[in-house]
Amino acid sequence: MKRSILFRMIAVVIVIALAFALCPTLYAQKQLDVYYHVATTEKVIALTFDDGPHPRFTDEILNILKEENVRATFFAIGSNVEAYPDVMRRVIAANHEIGNHTYGHPLIQTVTDFQLEEEIEKTDAILRDIGYQGNGLFRPPQGKCSNGMPALLERTNKTAILWNIDTRDWAHRPSEEIVREIENQVCGGDIILFHDYVSGESTTIPALKKLIPLLKERGYQFVTVSELLSLKDS
Ligand SMILES: [Zn+2]
Repeated sequence: MKRSILFRMIAVVIVIALAFALCPTLYAQKQLDVYYHVATTEKVIALTFDDGPHPRFTDEILNILKEENVRATFFAIGSNVEAYPDVMRRVIAANHEIGNHTYGHPLIQTVTDFQLEEEIEKTDAILRDIGYQGNGLFRPPQGKCSNGMPALLERTNKTAILWNIDTRDWAHRPSEEIVREIENQVCGGDIILFHDYVSGESTTIPALKKLIPLLKERGYQFVTVSELLSLKDS
């Protein structure tokens, strides 16, 4: 009797140990296509710009990136690409990377997965029409993920890119504050969120003018998100 209790206890311990051993693997698989940053020993950073293209700020951001010889990733809204195709063409011509940020920037909780898929496909088609081919990156509005997102990403062949440094430039934070905060926490593999469209005045441009030279001095290189993913430690 005592021996059978002992065997049962051992079996329970083995089951619990297996569950702990397997769960992180399952979790990692489920999270495989969602990146907040990339684990790398390289001193590389990806600058990302959401909500454009827009003539008010995108062109000026392109000028700064050109002056600094830096490539970045723009998560474009399909309706803005339709409204300002020439601005988007300039982003493409400057060899930056473009990701899909839906067609109309809906809140994820207000749309079905089917509607979200339509938003993604519509934006892909608009980008294709103006000559952009590579398009495997997706950033959900406000970085919110739905339960159906893993399956959606698989169906649309996308990788979800979020961020680990949020400049909150849309809230018109002083550029010095944005720069100071990034300076204090930056690490290789970071994905930094900026916006190339905000309502009202933008502090993004003065922040970039200070930030890029400062981080270059500290030995950082700027890469696109796809380049960053390729530098992931195995
Ligand atoms: Zn957005």
